[in-house]
Amino acid sequence: MSFVETIRNAGIIGAGGAGFPTYVKMQSSPDTLICNAAECEPLLYTDYYVIQNHIEGVVRGILLAKAHLGAERAVFAIKEKRHELFPAIEKAIKEAGGGIEIFTLGDYYPAGDEQSLVHDVTGRIVPQNGIPIQVNVVVNNVLTFFQLWNAIENNVPVTERYVSVVGRVKHPYVAVVPIGTPFSVLAKRAEPEPGTVMLEGGVMMGHIRNPEDTVTKTTGALVFLEEGNPAVHEKVASFQSVTRFSKSACCQCTECTVLCPRFNLGHDIEPHMIMRTLNYGLDANSSVAQAAYLCCQCGVCSMFACPFGLSPKRVYADFRARLKEFNIPAREHAADPFNDAKKLPSKRLKARLNILDIDVKAEFIGTLPYPGPYKIRMKQHIGAPATPIVKIGDRVRAGQVLATVKTEELGTPVHSPAAGDVLEITEEFITIGSES
Ligand code: SF4
Ligand code: SF4
Repeated sequence: MSFVETIRNAGIIGAGGAGFPTYVKMQSSPDTLICNAAECEPLLYTDYYVIQNHIEGVVRGILLAKAHLGAERAVFAIKEKRHELFPAIEKAIKEAGGGIEIFTLGDYYPAGDEQSLVHDVTGRIVPQNGIPIQVNVVVNNVLTFFQLWNAIENNVPVTERYVSVVGRVKHPYVAVVPIGTPFSVLAKRAEPEPGTVMLEGGVMMGHIRNPEDTVTKTTGALVFLEEGNPAVHEKVASFQSVTRFSKSACCQCTECTVLCPRFNLGHDIEPHMIMRTLNYGLDANSSVAQAAYLCCQCGVCSMFACPFGLSPKRVYADFRARLKEFNIPAREHAADPFNDAKKLPSKRLKARLNILDIDVKAEFIGTLPYPGPYKIRMKQHIGAPATPIVKIGDRVRAGQVLATVKTEELGTPVHSPAAGDVLEITEEFITIGSES
């Protein structure tokens, strides 16, 4: 089986959150390969423990990908504040024969944003509406490289992942969790404070979830925050109230634009302009409207920059949903020469979000004990959902393929995290019961 087929069959997708199928990236010819270990969402230690526990596999994964792609340069991008991990990373690189350089990042947000990272490491700017390969770069998350190595060297598919369970909880931890495990099980172990809200993904870019939702290949974290936290408010406010408040309160100070990381990369996005249109209307073909496609939803504008907590992020999300059929290329301009000076220090962001007091190192607890049942999503990434190939009553083994995607479609198969019986099949899920 070819390198690309092995990765596709192992079900590997971007573990950092975006979930783009990795086999597609492995069909390109970049000159630079970047391992994204920036972990810029506040409070998380997911990548930290992947590095601490699996650095040899990660490094070998990077080198396997580098050789396959024919990349001249491989870069391990990690924040300087994780310096206690550097000796192990350097040792693993040396023992693997070299060929990877460590690139240290400051402690700012969003250091792990793919386009910001490409600019920091290479000085290149990914075109608007574009992807890194357009500037000869491929970026993968650090866990993705470990999974890649595990697939190539050990024939192990993706059936579990590292998850941080942090925030206003009694026991913040990081664990290895089988895909399909209910969030309620992860929450129970952490003991969240009463009245907290659960976010999947992170404080800044996460989404509010329910206890019955389950872990997918892109679930990097569950974060618990109090209801009154600005990060929660930003996510729960109705769009109607967002626009009503914005219409009366936005003073066009442009702070949101000054700190927008995509504007500072030189992309044609000015969040204060989309706020202006709420009062004056919008031409769908204008560059102001098209900027909705350029917003990465990082939340800097709404959760840090705006003095009134207004949310250009939410407005862009709504415009993007409504204007999907429009894709007029936006004009380009040069990166802001003060881009570096405008990077948002993580500490100031945490202070603004009132989470400095819960910024503690989560403990690694190994594999989270959970016997099932596991509810495994058929759609865990960009592209086509998987189609079940098992039926109710089938007995499956750990790692067995449960559902596949046609070769001509964008997607990867889904595997069972444990041995057990197929209990239920719907369009969205397959439920596997523990082996009796
Ligand atoms: S969420 Fe706000 S700051 Fe982030 S890219 Fe979008 S407009 Fe810019
Ligand atoms: S920072 Fe807030 S008030 Fe200022 S222009 Fe942006 S949305 Fe309006």
